[in-house]
Amino acid sequence: MGKNPSAGVSGEKIWLDGRFVPWDEARVHVLTHTLHYGLGVFEGIRCYATEDGRSAIFRLKEHVRRLYDSAHINRIDVPFPKEQIEEAIRDSVLENHLSEGYVRPLVFLGEGAMGLNPADNPVRVAIVAWAWGKYLGEEGMERGIRAGVSSFSRHHVNAKMTLGKTCGDYVNSILAKRDALLDGYDEAIMLDTHGRVSEATGENIFLVRKSIIRTPPVHSVLDGITRETVMTLARENGFTVAEDEITRDELYVADEVFLTGTAAEVTPIREIDHRQVGCGQRGPVTELLQGAYFDAVSGRNPAHPDWLSYL
Ligand code: PMP
Repeated sequence: MGKNPSAGVSGEKIWLDGRFVPWDEARVHVLTHTLHYGLGVFEGIRCYATEDGRSAIFRLKEHVRRLYDSAHINRIDVPFPKEQIEEAIRDSVLENHLSEGYVRPLVFLGEGAMGLNPADNPVRVAIVAWAWGKYLGEEGMERGIRAGVSSFSRHHVNAKMTLGKTCGDYVNSILAKRDALLDGYDEAIMLDTHGRVSEATGENIFLVRKSIIRTPPVHSVLDGITRETVMTLARENGFTVAEDEITRDELYVADEVFLTGTAAEVTPIREIDHRQVGCGQRGPVTELLQGAYFDAVSGRNPAHPDWLSYL
C-alpha cells in the first residue's frame, strides 16, 4: 500500500473525439484549456468478468447520466449523444481486449481562448480503458485500511457543486491523499466546512453501529453510484440505512466503517487517526456487503439485471 496503483497504465487504443486512435497518439496541445484551469468532467467505470464467462460494465447508464449531469452543472455541452458515449465505452473495453478493467471517460475543453471564458473552445471527449486491480490494495480489502482525518476540508457546495465530478475539484482530494500517505495512512477522510464527516478523497464513507448503517447526505459528497448500490443491497439484506450527519468521533466509536467507490469497491477501514475501529479488522456487516457487491458486479444477483451491460 502507498504505491501508486495506476502506475504504468497502458493499452492499445483510446477513443478520442469520435474515433479510436493508437494509444500513444492520443495527445493534446499544451494550450488545452482544461489543463490550465481544470474545467472538465469525468467518470470512473468498471467492467467485470461475470459468472457465465461474459464481461459486463457495471451501471453504465448511471455513469453516463452522471457524466452528462456533471457537464450540465458546469455548462459544458457534450458534442455527442449519450447513446454514442455508451457505445464508445463498451467499444473501448473490447478494442483493448479487456475482460475486466476500468474506463475513464473525460470531457475537456480544447485550445482556443486562454482567458476564463472558454466560450468557443472545442469540447473534446476521450475514453480510456485499462486493467486496474484493487485501488486500495488486495490486503486492504480483507484486513481493512488505515485512514486519517485530513486537515483539508471538503469543498463547500457553493464553492464547488458536489454533484458534479469536475476535474479541478480533485486538487483538494490530491492534497488530502498525499498528506495521508506521507503520514503513513492509506486514505484520507475529509470533513465538510461545518466539521461533519464528508467523504474520502475518491470514495463515500459509511459507518455501522448496532447494525444500523449511516452515511452522510449528498450535501458535500459525490452522489456515488457504489454508495447507492450498497444502500440498496443493504436494505435488501434487511438493514436500516440512514443518510445522516456524522461527526468525527462517531467514526471512532463505530462498530465498523467502510468506503465505497467504483475504484475502491467496498473497502473496510480498521483504524482512524490511530484509534482502532470496532474489532480492528473487517467487520461482519462490511464483509456481507462486500460479498453482496461482488455478487452484483459478477452477475450472481438476479435481482438487478439492469445494473449490468453485457459486452
Ligand atoms: N466521492 C468522490 C469524491 C469520488 O471521486 C468518487 C469516485 N467517483 C466517489 C465518491 C464514489 O463514487 P462512485 O461510487 O460513483 O464511483
